[in-house]
Amino acid sequence: MRATVMYGAGDVRVETVPDARLVEPTDALVRVTRACICGSDLWPYNAMKPSDAGNRMGHEFIGLVEAVGSDVRTVKKGDLVVAPFAWSDGTCEFCQRGLQTSCLHGGWWGGTELDGGQGEAVRIPQADGTLFALPVGPDHTLMPSLLTLSDVMGTGHHAALSAQVGPGKIAAVVGDGAVGLCGVIAARRLGAERIIILGRHPDRIALAKDFGATDVVSERGDAGIERVKELTGGLGAHSVLECVGHGEAMLTAVSIARAGGAVGRVGVPQDTTLPNAQPTFYANLTIAGGPAPVRAYMEELLPDVLEGRIQPGRVFDQVTNIEGVPDGYRAMNERKSIKVMIEF
Ligand SMILES: [Zn+2]
Repeated sequence: MRATVMYGAGDVRVETVPDARLVEPTDALVRVTRACICGSDLWPYNAMKPSDAGNRMGHEFIGLVEAVGSDVRTVKKGDLVVAPFAWSDGTCEFCQRGLQTSCLHGGWWGGTELDGGQGEAVRIPQADGTLFALPVGPDHTLMPSLLTLSDVMGTGHHAALSAQVGPGKIAAVVGDGAVGLCGVIAARRLGAERIIILGRHPDRIALAKDFGATDVVSERGDAGIERVKELTGGLGAHSVLECVGHGEAMLTAVSIARAGGAVGRVGVPQDTTLPNAQPTFYANLTIAGGPAPVRAYMEELLPDVLEGRIQPGRVFDQVTNIEGVPDGYRAMNERKSIKVMIEF
């Protein structure tokens, strides 16, 4: 089968690899129908050390179940399923608490051991806990929005929950990538009164406004922090969604939160320390967030997608096939595309 393999920074190839197959009785085999490239795939795309073995890529996908192991109960051959960006057993202490990204028997797609989502088929470990069956067919018009349940929409929702967004509050979203844009959707969905988007790409800002952003701050660094303060009566935002991950974004996030406010961070941190330890202490800030347990949010977000109340699939502005994946990485890395969808 054809699949995406990364061998080092800037070196993404589509190659013929061994066919995905069932190994454990708890596995399912999924034939991928849609997948996508993630902003977090760009971190290794810019920094991965050369590797002879290469890493299989992709962690967001929808597909048809082709076969299941003898212990699988909740999905069957022919089901259309969405996979969360981490696999999990659904039964351990953490899964039961809705924190599937900390599953004691779970893990991450791709690498050197497992299939990735940017390929024609995937072996799914712990299929009962991992897969979520969709009540539509594979050609449904809502497929792009349903695909975002595998990561970016659930991750934006996690940022908003972690930032304690609620009615009457001012939310600020740091980052205008696909996750930041979904964070805007999530903040509106949870009732934020105002939503400030920090970003400066015109196409993304336009989409953020469509999704519910009420204010735009395009300045960066100290000027951006000042602008948010001005917009919030000098106090800062109640809820800050950090959707980037690098140090400057995190510094901005903690600097624009008001005293007693919360920062929900979902950008993968590229630094080992948190900035501004003393000011955040004296301001009684809550700093929460982490890898989103998107599996836990699928059931809650699905009706809003199916009934058209949210349209997170609009973050996809480019579509390719499997052979076009390397160009897709390039387009996203050069910010020529917000998010690339792969159709099989
Ligand atoms: Zn678990």
